[in-house]
Amino acid sequence: MLTQRKTGQVTTIVRVGNARIGGAQPAVMAGPCAVESREQLLAAARLVKAGGAQMLRGGAFKPRTSPYAFQGLEEQGLQLLAEAREETGLAIVTEVMEAAAVPLVASYADMLQVGARNMQNFALLKTLGKAGKPVLLKRGLSATIEEWLYAAEYILEAGNNQVVLCERGIRTFETYTRNTLDLGAVAAVKGLSHLPVIVDPSHGTGRRELVHSMTLAALAAGADGALIEVHPCPEEALCDGPQSLPPMEYLELMDDVRFFGRLHKRGRRGLEKAV
Ligand code: PEP
Ligand code: MN
Repeated sequence: MLTQRKTGQVTTIVRVGNARIGGAQPAVMAGPCAVESREQLLAAARLVKAGGAQMLRGGAFKPRTSPYAFQGLEEQGLQLLAEAREETGLAIVTEVMEAAAVPLVASYADMLQVGARNMQNFALLKTLGKAGKPVLLKRGLSATIEEWLYAAEYILEAGNNQVVLCERGIRTFETYTRNTLDLGAVAAVKGLSHLPVIVDPSHGTGRRELVHSMTLAALAAGADGALIEVHPCPEEALCDGPQSLPPMEYLELMDDVRFFGRLHKRGRRGLEKAV
């Protein structure tokens, strides 16, 4: 398996613009669930930059449960992301939902996200193996660790080893939280694979009050970083407002992420020695 961590092999560093995922310091991508307007995105981008995250996330093509929910601004959203990158220098991470859209999305984005609902879209995975851009591969809603690693294997096998795995919670019987964030899987996959692993506590819990503690817990479990939904005004968000951090909470979280970075470095060494 190309995804497998061989004895003594260090974590692969994935480069996204000027950001590095899998190195000594935790990497953070933050931003709104969806690109909604120029005003909203630029406000979010300035906030994300001020907090010290390295990458801006935001969906232009949204996989929504209901066909009547906001589907994203599509190419106009990609243009706004490019404008935000121009102003802030942040690298852009955004979702691509189908193989046919890869050339368009790749022409704007620095990293291409495969959403949970598409983790086993094998045509998409094969296309991303040849797209020449780093890939963020979210764990499927009910995918096992083995299925998740096989999905990553498709991308590596097609010629692209710049893949970051993202634990975003799985379906369980629990309904209080939107999903169950599987931190055991993070520690396990860090041992099994040389690919960097990040955690998305926003979708992983669905509740903003749990995002801070789950981010720190994920770093303690060995995660190489986090994906955090933030919004300049979550009450007005068109998508995922209840799990999005407002400005002050995001800034406080980033302070603690920096503090944790030092412990993180030690933890990472331990994990890499363990295999
Ligand atoms: C998202 O990142 O906004 C998203 C739709 O995530 P997921 O695919 O994990 O549900
Ligand atoms: Mn979302």
